[in-house]
Amino acid sequence: MKPIKPVFKEITEQLNTVRDGIQIIAVTKQVGVDRTQEAIHAGIRHLGENRPEGLAQKLETIVEDVSWHFIGNLQTRKVKDVINEIDYLHSLDRLSLAKEIQKRAIRQVKCFVQVNVSGEESKSGLSPSETIDFIESLKQYDKIQVVGLMTMAPNTTDELVIREAFKGLKLLQLQISEKHWTHAPCTECSMGMSNDYLIAAQEGASFVRIGTALVGSESEAKQ
Ligand SMILES: *Cc1c(COP(=O)(O)O)cnc(C)c1O
Repeated sequence: MKPIKPVFKEITEQLNTVRDGIQIIAVTKQVGVDRTQEAIHAGIRHLGENRPEGLAQKLETIVEDVSWHFIGNLQTRKVKDVINEIDYLHSLDRLSLAKEIQKRAIRQVKCFVQVNVSGEESKSGLSPSETIDFIESLKQYDKIQVVGLMTMAPNTTDELVIREAFKGLKLLQLQISEKHWTHAPCTECSMGMSNDYLIAAQEGASFVRIGTALVGSESEAKQ
C-alpha cells in the first residue's frame, strides 16, 4: 500500500484550493492498528470508525490525542460501549437513539444528524422534510449538541446528481443554523468520501470522511 503521508498532503492541498479549514477524517474501518498509527504519524488528527468492535480495537492500543468519529449506524444497545469513547457521532437519526445517548453519556456529545438527501431506500437518515422538527425535539436532551448534518452521496457516478445532494444538505444546514438554537448550532456539514470529496468541499463540506483513497483497504472482509 502507498505511504499515507504524501497522499494526505496531496488531498490536503486539493481541499485547500477550495477552502481553508476543511477537516479530513481518515476512515480506518478497513485497516488495522498499524496503518492507523501510520495515519496519526502522518499528521492526521481525525479518525473514523463505523463499528463498535473496530473502534474498541483501535482504542485499545492507540494512546495519541486524536478525535474519534463514529460514522456508522449505531444500534441502541451499543450506545453504552461507544458513546463515552468518541468525540463525534455522525449518525444520529432517531429519537430512541437520542434517548439512549441521554441516558448513557457522561458528558455532552457532539452529534451530526444524518440526513438521507437522495431518498434512496437503502440509506439511513431522516428525510430533509422531517429533519428540522427532529432537531428541534432534541432540545430536551442536554447530553446532545447538534454540531451539524451528515449525508452519504447517492449511489451514482453522475456528478451532477451527487452535487445536488451535497447542495441540499448545505442548504438545510444553513436553514437550521439560522435558527440559533443553543442545543443545535448546526454549523458543520459532514459529506464527501473517497470518490466525491472534492465535490463535497466545493458544496460546503467542513468534514470529509475518506477511507480507501487515503489509508487504503487491507481486506474486503473487514468491511
Ligand atoms: C466507509 C465510509 C466512508 C469512507 O468511504 P471510502 O469510500 O472508503 O472513502 C465514509 N463515510 C461512511 C459513513 C462510511 O461508512
